Amino acid sequence: MKVYLDNAATTPLDPQVLEEMMPYFTTHFGNPNSIHEYGRKTRSAIEKSRKIVAQILNASTAEIFFTSCGTESNNMILKQAVTSLGVKRIISSPTEHHCVLHSVKTLEKQGVAVDWLEVNEFGEVNIAMLENLLAQPNSPTTLVSLMHANNEIGTMIDLDAVALLCKKHHSYFHSDTVQTIAHKEIDLQKTPIDFISGSAHKFHGPKGIGFVFIRNGVTLQPFMDGGAQERNMRAGTENVASIIGLCKAMEIWQANKENQQLYLRELKDYMIALVKEKVPTALFNGQITAQSLDHVLSISLPANTKTDLLLFNLDIAGICASGASACASGSLGASHVMEAIKAPIDRRTVRFSFSKNTTKEEIDLAVDALRKMV
Ligand code: PLP
Repeated sequence: MKVYLDNAATTPLDPQVLEEMMPYFTTHFGNPNSIHEYGRKTRSAIEKSRKIVAQILNASTAEIFFTSCGTESNNMILKQAVTSLGVKRIISSPTEHHCVLHSVKTLEKQGVAVDWLEVNEFGEVNIAMLENLLAQPNSPTTLVSLMHANNEIGTMIDLDAVALLCKKHHSYFHSDTVQTIAHKEIDLQKTPIDFISGSAHKFHGPKGIGFVFIRNGVTLQPFMDGGAQERNMRAGTENVASIIGLCKAMEIWQANKENQQLYLRELKDYMIALVKEKVPTALFNGQITAQSLDHVLSISLPANTKTDLLLFNLDIAGICASGASACASGSLGASHVMEAIKAPIDRRTVRFSFSKNTTKEEIDLAVDALRKMV
């Protein structure tokens, strides 16, 4: 039996999503940019999806642009904010996903000033430091980029509070919301944020499709040159079936969100209690309170010959988990997030992440495998 506890890396496609997508691989194959009936059919399906995605986020349809993934969305926002909005300074944190971290470092090499906020041992960013930086006299045009929830340790920021702070100081605010779209409620009328990003494969949609939200009135130049797709913002023939799938996955979440959130929190609390009981030497990384991601739990164990090969040993036991983020899990050594929160170097870390398909029995098996290693 395989136990899949790596849902922050990616989630299985919901069968209802696949069903909704299928006709767009076969019958409705038209290029949405064609003027004939085949094209009109797929065009209207895309625009219907955009409307639904916008409604779920309480945004307007003109503010949603489909992209190929979360990585593209974050690159687009950060890089185009510099070229199109005259951003001269970026304030970010060392625990961002690599697609933000590396984009900011690229921009830094190109002459953009960068301030990295301090984070504490829970991965919480120093908001007082942010306020001080924003309040500096003669501040240059600034973009703040802080992820809504950390994909490795589940720590979250208070999106509303940071958005209000940025607004107060006339700075742009981008948040990488890849781990919170279709996990946590986001109301873009209520939260005065300029940019967010999403990726369907994190919420039971297909891989290779994402979106950006760009607030009305903020104008970015296109990231890629090419055709006029996505109202000139994202050239390239639209990934029609995947857009349909992204929308369906969000709709399914929207219809079940209260129950799903409660269930995921129940699983997280269950695993925390079980680990405390069966593996008392284990520690939890990041914030584990109700304010943290419900579906992510990062655990560290004392180093020994078995935990040195923690992920491999879990894999042999049939448990699929990650060391850090999936993209970094093949690499040796602590992740940049673990380094930033100054996690002890004599411990080994594993991230378990749940989905609506996860059961308590699977968690029992995972904790039993951990117990055998310490
Ligand atoms: N941002 C965060 C917080 C993530 O967890 C991920 C995926 O691991 C990404 C961005 C990148 O998303 P994608 O896989 O769609 O490029």
